[in-house]
Amino acid sequence: MISFDEAYEIVLESAGRTAVEDAALGDCLGRVLAADVASDMDMPPHDLSAMDGFACRQADLDDGLTEIETIPAGCMPTKSIGPGQCSRIMTGAVVPDGADIVVMFEHTQDRDGLVYAVEKSGRTNIRCKAEDVHAGDVVLTAGTVLRPVEIAVLASVGCDPASVYAMPRVGVVATGNELIEPRQKPTAAKIRNSNSCQLCAQIQRAGCKPKYFGIAKDTPEAVDDILGRAMDECDVVLFSGGVSVGDYDFVPQILRANDIDLKFEKVRIKPGRPTVFGTKDNKYFFGLPGNPVSTFVLFEVLVRPFLVKLMGADYRPGRIRGRLTKDVVKRKVDRAEFRPVRLEPDGSVNFFEYHGSAHIHAYTFANGIVQIPAGAAKLNAGSDVQVTLI
Ligand code: AMP
Ligand code: MG
Repeated sequence: MISFDEAYEIVLESAGRTAVEDAALGDCLGRVLAADVASDMDMPPHDLSAMDGFACRQADLDDGLTEIETIPAGCMPTKSIGPGQCSRIMTGAVVPDGADIVVMFEHTQDRDGLVYAVEKSGRTNIRCKAEDVHAGDVVLTAGTVLRPVEIAVLASVGCDPASVYAMPRVGVVATGNELIEPRQKPTAAKIRNSNSCQLCAQIQRAGCKPKYFGIAKDTPEAVDDILGRAMDECDVVLFSGGVSVGDYDFVPQILRANDIDLKFEKVRIKPGRPTVFGTKDNKYFFGLPGNPVSTFVLFEVLVRPFLVKLMGADYRPGRIRGRLTKDVVKRKVDRAEFRPVRLEPDGSVNFFEYHGSAHIHAYTFANGIVQIPAGAAKLNAGSDVQVTLI
């Protein structure tokens, strides 16, 4: 059985790249840039005023100044500033020739029709041409995940549409005779399918498009049929359940029967030991154990980094160091373990009691996951741990 680190490496190494496409800026949140982007202009494009005030010469600051025009933002000045002159200028307007300072309105007084600077801040309040970016400068590089601020940068350099990697289409399949859909009332021996909605939400949060294919009964035919449909339409297919050693766990066998090359079928981790990963052509298949906590954790620690890589970026979740409030004892020393935790604002980290991997409710209190490496049997109260924010 391979370690978590080995599984992680195999999964990431297998990830190709999705196609490159153009996306309008309104559709770019969370997408990954496929090419470097250079600015098509200087920023600022001219010397601009950073304040509402009077543009004039520093040499004249002790004199009364004659106002010669008003310069709104978006208009070029029509007059240059000579000795003893000033122009009213608005924030973002082009500074007229001859002026080397803008005195903010609040620092001036109007006396006998002349403008006097009554306070000197020592600042010119001029944003100089190209001080932020020169035309031709690369402002964002390929592989950048687009957050609102990067989208603003793309807009400012006129990069709309942007060249981004296509969103992988990710299929979700639940397996299990015991499952019914959330809107149905369970009769004897049935439970609601919570994994599919959870996985679809996780896929969306990872920046991909989910497509739900329904519940496959625990028969080879049902699993095969739904796999066929999912693989026709999707780049990645996620199964939940049916990957273990039970009499009705058919997922690995059906993946193999469809010529999917299984790279691993078990990983030394808790939760989630029977985790399956395979590839065929440019398609990828994960079989995640059906227990809701296992499904959740395996997606976060293995599938999400994979999907982000498929979209051309490296997955870098937020990680914060915190301090354990209690000892944590691990039963299986040979496996890496992932545990739900709550990181408090004071930096303390609390572990939750959860009754095995079906206990998804415990996770609603958690805001992070801590990995306890294989080999470690215990973490002591007061020691620092790295919390991956979820
Ligand atoms: P399995 O991996 O198929 O052996 O399932 C392990 C456990 O997870 C069983 O108790 C299942 O009832 C439960 N389970 C499997 N699939 C789901 C699902 N889609 N939603 C909620 N629980 C599930
Ligand atoms: Mg099952």
